[in-house]
Amino acid sequence: MNTHIPESCGGLGLDTFDACLITEELAYGCTGVQTAIEANSLGQMPVIIGGNEQQQKKYLGRMTEEPLMCAYCVTEPGAGSDVASIKTRAERKGDEYIINGQKMWITNGGKANWYFLLARSNPDPKAPASKAFTGFIVEADSPGIQIGRKEINMGQRCSDTRGIVFEDVRIPKENVLIGEGAGFKIAMGAFDKTRPPVAAGAVGLAQRALDEATKYAMERKTFGKAIAEHQAVSFMLAEMALKVELSRLAYQRAAWEVDVGRRNTYYASIAKAYAGDTANQVAADAVQIFGGNGFNSEYPVEKLMRDAKIYQVSSQYH
Ligand SMILES: Cc1cc2nc3c(=O)[nH]c(=O)nc-3n(C[C@H](O)[C@H](O)[C@H](O)COP(=O)(O)OP(=O)(O)OC[C@H]3O[C@@H](n4cnc5c(N)ncnc54)[C@H](O)[C@@H]3O)c2cc1C
Repeated sequence: MNTHIPESCGGLGLDTFDACLITEELAYGCTGVQTAIEANSLGQMPVIIGGNEQQQKKYLGRMTEEPLMCAYCVTEPGAGSDVASIKTRAERKGDEYIINGQKMWITNGGKANWYFLLARSNPDPKAPASKAFTGFIVEADSPGIQIGRKEINMGQRCSDTRGIVFEDVRIPKENVLIGEGAGFKIAMGAFDKTRPPVAAGAVGLAQRALDEATKYAMERKTFGKAIAEHQAVSFMLAEMALKVELSRLAYQRAAWEVDVGRRNTYYASIAKAYAGDTANQVAADAVQIFGGNGFNSEYPVEKLMRDAKIYQVSSQYH
């Protein structure tokens, strides 16, 4: 966990490529667990990108000392893909900001020790996104925070997803990242480093589905031979393998680009989109290969199919 935290704060300081390899293996086991762990990296990334030394020592440091979770609070009931439409307000009052608004779909929402929060600090509707929003670090036990019930989702059910209401929550100005107005760039900048691991998670799921389907196809017999020997099934397995390998190469390229210091938005977006589709196609094919058993929760692939959908739904994070 927390592989990106710099060594100066007690972390491993791993680069994106290494973190992706770990993520893929975790996702092979369970993408619900992997998502909860990944949400820590997502919450931490704005602090890694934009935090000053004091903020990093305080908020990243504690994550390496205790088994804590954190969260990334951007999406709202009325705005997901369109981040610039968020309505949560931050008003400066002396040395503090007062936060009012509602966030939705926050992974680790009920477990987090602190949140990265994006809020609108410039009420002028004409203000450009690049100047209108501010990023904050918020202690989860701040008065005025109400945490909603755990949402019941299609898949990845062990991951804790909740709505959170902020009512007159006071945040000291020391918890602003970079400065007022810098929030949008920080929130978006985090994605260049957090999209490759999301793609890696999808690849872990797809690899699991491929392995389960291959094993089953070698064992299950119809019409006197293993179903893997029916060419229609072996062609399916070949297609699945092809997509898994290409998705893996896509996330590795995206991770490598950002690690060598180049802007990887293009590659990260391709990796995330392609690996998300791959996870869904491969999981659905695995269910097909399992036949009736594929539809049953005693076998592993129906969970993979439910878990896969989020990789196409959640455009940036989850
Ligand atoms: C389980 C789960 C966990 C999540 N975790 C987090 C989290 O930790 N932190 C956080 O901040 N958010 C989180 N999210 C929110 C998630 O990122 C959003 O759900 C996602 O960004 C999509 O936003 P939306 O749900 O508002 O859908 P909308 O933005 O309303 O989109 C609805 C549909 O319209 C499509 N669409 C939207 N805009 C366009 C366009 N310009 N062109 C074409 N199609 C478009 C979308 O692809 C989608 O199919 C999570 C969501 C889920 C379900």
